[in-house]
Formats: sequence, C-alpha cells, structure tokens
Amino acid sequence: RNNAQKFEFQAEVSRLMDILINSLYSNKDIFLRELISNASDALDKIRFLSLTDKEILGEGDTAKLEIQIKLDKEKKILSIRDRGIGMTKEDLIKNLGTIAKSGTSAFLEKMQSSGDLNLIGQFGVGFYSVYLVADYVEVISKHNDDKQHVWESKADGAFAISEDTWNEPLGRGTEIRLHLRDEAGEYLEEHKLKELVKKYSEFINFPIYLWASKEVDVEVPADEDDESSESSSEEENKDDDAEKSEDDEEKPKTKTVKETTYEWELLNDVKAIWLRNPKEVSEEEYTKFYHTLAKDFGDEKPLAWSHFNAEGDVEFKAVLFVPPKAPHDLYESYYNSNKSNLKLYVRRVFISDEFDELLPKYLSFLKGLVDSDTLPLNVSREMLQQHSSLRTIKKKLIRKALDMIRRIADEDPDESTDKDKKEEVSSDNDEKRGQYAKFWNEFGKSIKLGIIEDATNRNRLAKLLRVETSKSEGKLTSLDQYISRMKSGQKDIFYITGTNKEQLEKSPFLERLRKKNYEVIYFTDPVDEYLMQYLMDYEDKKFQNVSKEGLKIGKDAKAKELKESFKDLTKWWKSALSSENVDDVKISNRLDNTPCVVVTSKFGWSANMERIMQAQTL
Ligand code: ADP
Ligand code: MG
Repeated sequence: RNNAQKFEFQAEVSRLMDILINSLYSNKDIFLRELISNASDALDKIRFLSLTDKEILGEGDTAKLEIQIKLDKEKKILSIRDRGIGMTKEDLIKNLGTIAKSGTSAFLEKMQSSGDLNLIGQFGVGFYSVYLVADYVEVISKHNDDKQHVWESKADGAFAISEDTWNEPLGRGTEIRLHLRDEAGEYLEEHKLKELVKKYSEFINFPIYLWASKEVDVEVPADEDDESSESSSEEENKDDDAEKSEDDEEKPKTKTVKETTYEWELLNDVKAIWLRNPKEVSEEEYTKFYHTLAKDFGDEKPLAWSHFNAEGDVEFKAVLFVPPKAPHDLYESYYNSNKSNLKLYVRRVFISDEFDELLPKYLSFLKGLVDSDTLPLNVSREMLQQHSSLRTIKKKLIRKALDMIRRIADEDPDESTDKDKKEEVSSDNDEKRGQYAKFWNEFGKSIKLGIIEDATNRNRLAKLLRVETSKSEGKLTSLDQYISRMKSGQKDIFYITGTNKEQLEKSPFLERLRKKNYEVIYFTDPVDEYLMQYLMDYEDKKFQNVSKEGLKIGKDAKAKELKESFKDLTKWWKSALSSENVDDVKISNRLDNTPCVVVTSKFGWSANMERIMQAQTL
C-alpha cells in the first residue's frame, strides 16, 4: 500500500514468529482464546475509563461492550472484533512489535524443547499465536485519541502500518483479521468456533457473538411448473386425502423453502461465576475458570480453591486458587515487584490486576479475584488504593488463603499421622494424596518468606511449614508432628543449618543428640537462616540451634563434676587461643567421638550464615 510505513520486529518477536509459523504443534486452537482474552482486556480498559468519563464510550453500537466473531469461507478469513479501548498508531508499533515482559528467551527455549504452547498467554506474547493458523494477519484499530490504522504482517520479519482509508470505520476498538492457511480450514467451521469458545472462553465477562448461519423456513410464491413444489405439498398433505381431493383444483399460492440467513448468536453465558452459589458450581467449572483467570491452560487442576462471600462492614465476594505450579519467575520478581495476582472488581466492573494492597507479597503466588460492593466505583485507581476497606479485605483474604492451604494438608492422606488413614485406599482420597508435598515443593519458600514478613500470622504459617529431620527419612514432616515425637523432658525443638543434608548428617554437633535418640530438624535452604531469626518458638517450644551456645539435652548429673575437674585445662585453652578467637572454652555436652567443636555464641551468626553472607558479598 502506498501510504504504508514499514517496521522491523524486535529480534525476539521475529524468532518467536518463526517458531510459531513453522510449528507442527498440534493444538493450534489456542490462538482463539488469546485473541478473545485480548479483546476482553481491551473492553475492561474502556469500561474502567468510562466510570469517570461517561462520554468515552460513545454512542449507538460503539458503546456496546461486546466481542464479535465473523467468518468468510470464500476468502478464508476469520475476524475477531471488539469495541474495547483500541490502539493508536503508536500502540500498534509498541504492542505488536516488541515484547514488554521479560523471560521471553526462557519461554522460547522451553517452547522449543517441550513444544508446549499452553503458557504463551502468561508470557505476554499471546497475540503472536495467530501465526499458528494464519500466514497473513491484519489488525485494524481505532482508539479515541487517533485515526483508524491498519497493522499488517506476513510474519517475514517486518510489519507495516497505514492510516485506514478503505475499511468500514470501527467506531472504536480492534478487529483482527486472520487470513487462514489452507490447513487451518477447520477454523472456518461454525461448530468448531462454538466448541472452542465453550471450551476456553466460557468465563469471559463480555458477550461473545458469532455471525452464525441459520436455516429458516420462508414462504415464497408457488410456481406451477415446479415439480419439487408439487411433490412437497403432496408430502405435507398425504394423511389428508379428503381435503386434498377437495382442494385439488385450487393451486397453492405460496410454498415453504429453506433459506440460510445470518444472525449474531451469543456463545457464552456472562453470569459471573463468583456471583453464583459455591454449592452450585462444579469442580470442572472452577478448573476452567482458573484456566481463564491464570492464563494457564495446562491440563492440571489447581491444587485448591476457596470461594466465599464476606459480609459485614465490608462486603465482597472472592475466589482464590492455589495454582498447580509456580510461575517461572515467582521468586525472580518477588523482590522487585509488588504485584499480586488478584483481579479487583467493584460491583462487577474490572478495576485492576495490579493492586498490591489486596494480598501480602508472600501470597503473590495465588490467583484469584475479589469483587467488592463496598468500594466506590467512580474514583481514580489511586484514591481506591487508599480506601480504608482494603485493609479489612486484605485481612480476610489472608485468613481464607491460609485456611485453604491448610486444607490441602488436612485432606492429604500422606500428611496424616494416623497410619490407617495413610494407607487407606479410596479413589477419593487418592486424588488428594501427595498434594501437600506438591504444594510445598512449588510454594514452600513463600510460606517461609511469610513467616519472616508476617508477624501477625506467624504461628498460622509455621503450622504450614514442612521440614526434613534426622528421623524423617527423606520425607517431610510438620512441626506438630515433630512435637508429638519429642522425648519426655525435651523442652526445645532442635535444629541445625547447613548447605546440604549429607553434610549435616555427619555433623559432630549431632553426635550426642543422635546417640540419645533426639530428633533434629535439618535446614539447608539459605532462606532458612533468616527464617530462624524470626521463628523463635512454636506452641510454647523454643527453637534451639544445636551448633549454638545454650544447648541443653536433658539432665546431666556429671556435668558439674566434669566442669570442676577440667577447670584448669579449659582455662589454659582459653588463654592459648586468645580472646580474639574465642569467647569461651567449655566442657561440651553435645559430643561423643569428636574431641572438640567450635560453637557459635547465642546471638552470633552460625557458621552457615557466615557462609551465606560471604557468598553474597563476593
Ligand atoms: P498480553 O495480552 O499478555 O499483554 P498479547 O501478546 O496477547 O500480550 O498482546 C500484546 C498487547 O497488544 C496487549 O498488551 C495490548 O496492549 C495489545 N492488544 C492486543 N490485542 C488488543 C486488542 N484487541 N485491543 C487493544 N489492545 C490489544
Ligand atoms: Mg493477551
């Protein structure tokens, strides 16, 4: 086109498009849900802006917040249109040419090795999935602040943008036209599109329409010489011989024929799932809703969910999910972002999914949604962020989230201390078996970070903690289970920190404890050192690092006697080592074979902590 301006794609985009267009990946269906999800995002954005500026929606059809799908079988074009916020020329260049999110290279690698595209939406590159089915794509878009433009690309490393002077004006919004490849002909079938919308986009909160064909009966003037007309009228009347003979002479004036017409057919039910009674929502529906919400279309179910209705001063409905897997960048972004994964709605209107005030950082791995009737609808995001109700909402959400996580453990037969229950086999509890270990594997670190950061809920979080110990034989155990096994007279919970289990098992610090059959918790994650600076006690039991000063193992009758008789020796050692090197030299109660050991003072850094700090400054 004459007035088209040409651009090159960012290198990563080009690589991604190459992979997609050459992909033999069998599940090409995903492109549709990505486009619908983008349309829905765009509609959410304009609806949000319209809260404070009614004019923005425009008039007539332009104001209709809906998604339309249309097919052109002859030209092999599938188009998806929305009346969302639209894109300016600048937006088109930026959004459909570069990748905003990090982690694209990692995704590309993963996609090439596993061939799994199901997570594409999570990487902020869902749009490009159109090249799984199309070899030429046009994006026509109209934003309130700009003229209508067309973006187009044949996935050959470049795209072009032109001011649109030839298409029908969109009013506002975006139309994506896919020129389908020959082998993607199935996406021109109405039943296929209906099936896909049902499968993947059921929980989109805007109506999705398909320009669908419909067979209708129409009356047309009858034609005397038309054979078929006669035979059909004969068919209709064959049980009615008497009448027929009477009417024989009279010729019918009209006849009925089938004709194909088109009309907009609504494909989804827009009643929000969170407004429904939890008792009436099936497991499958929750799973599907989770897929849409989290843009996680793997075949795994969420590990748990909680759907509740909070009443009182602050009213809201919420659905929370524990995903089956941690996102690739959970802890990467933990320290430099505050983003929670909850969507905030106010009276059914989507407000934001970047509200840090809803959940603390350590719970940012949860997905879900909050819809409040108490929050005001017509204020800016900034004002809303400061609303006092948010604190109440947050408090309740944390409670519910921790309850939900505890339920994974409660329902997991592997977690049970009751041996019968553990071995009981029924398909019911088998599905729940091993789920907590799975949770812990994916999100255990978040629970530890929670213990560090959330003093109010520390005890509740400590209940969720799982550890390995000198007696757990490689399995995970809870603090409650540890306590239930404590020896009589044992006052403290013993633990040791180090870089790995093998090293800890050989530690001389454990000699005596092991001989006397005490259980010791092994902490081998660097975060554990920090954790234990905050977790001082649990259920009235103190934590004692066995490599630190102050270890008391039951009563030792000979201790005093020994101390007295080795007094001169310990004194001599202390002066020989000088006070620069040691604080004190004492008779040890923790050794069996090893002659001596270096112990950390009560408030000093353990040797392991020294190692961690050193590694960090290097
Ligand atoms: P994501 O949706 O995760 O941001 P996509 O690759 O699906 O990633 O889309 C890239 C960007 O293109 C979106 O963030 C949005 O800004 C823009 N975009 C895509 N489709 C539309 C649309 N229908 N209306 C408005 N903007 C869109
Ligand atoms: Mg998207």
